[in-house]
Amino acid sequence: MIELRTPAEIEAMRPAGRFVAETLATLREETKVGTNLLAIDRRAHELIRRAGATSCYIDYHPSFGASPFGKVICTSINDAVLHGLPFDYALRDGDLVTLDFAVSVDGWVADSAVSFVVGTPRDEDLALIDTTERALDAAIAAATVGNRIGDISHAVAEVAHAEGLSINTDFGGHGVGREMHGDPHVPNDGKPGRGYPLREGLVLALEPWFLQSTDKLVTDDDGWTLRSADGSRGAHSEHTIAITADGPIILTDRSHLGVH
Ligand code: MG
Repeated sequence: MIELRTPAEIEAMRPAGRFVAETLATLREETKVGTNLLAIDRRAHELIRRAGATSCYIDYHPSFGASPFGKVICTSINDAVLHGLPFDYALRDGDLVTLDFAVSVDGWVADSAVSFVVGTPRDEDLALIDTTERALDAAIAAATVGNRIGDISHAVAEVAHAEGLSINTDFGGHGVGREMHGDPHVPNDGKPGRGYPLREGLVLALEPWFLQSTDKLVTDDDGWTLRSADGSRGAHSEHTIAITADGPIILTDRSHLGVH
């Protein structure tokens, strides 16, 4: 069921969005060569506790998960792109890191992800990250009253196809509200003018993610982490946005903190 939020409810979702934005900016700043993924999770946990927020991940146990997630942040490294379960690993020079983070504050969820490189970057990794960020910008620009879900999907795909990337539509954007995942599904490819009409009050997580040379994923032995089938690297960029009569509001906006 697709739920629409009143302007007052969208206002009430702002603290969750702000907290997620600030936390990802902080974690990005603090994550360096040598940082352990478990330390990132511990730090996120500390920030959650301090803010009185509630993790959406720690007890998360969907049908595809082997067991409850047990951590408060997803850390997907290099050829891992989604649902990366933090493990005992110290980041190495040139690692491509994706942090994906969702919490609820005052009963409202915000969900966002950012990719970046620690240490010396490879050009192709920076290009992949730039493509996901431009695809997210295009998705947000298409999230206006009068458009349809397919217009968002098409906007994402156009950016990816221009770079020769293929797209996996199994995992994509989703409605956000009291729960992390709601209707509608927002695939990262689709036909313009098709699908659910975008209405005022619709709150969505939009999340382009791409792999360098495949659209196939494999699941790690940990039962969570999704990696490219061919070992190529992945990047992921996500914001929670609210569609209003005046255009989209990026609830998890962190541009003022210097992070896309
Ligand atoms: Mg997310």
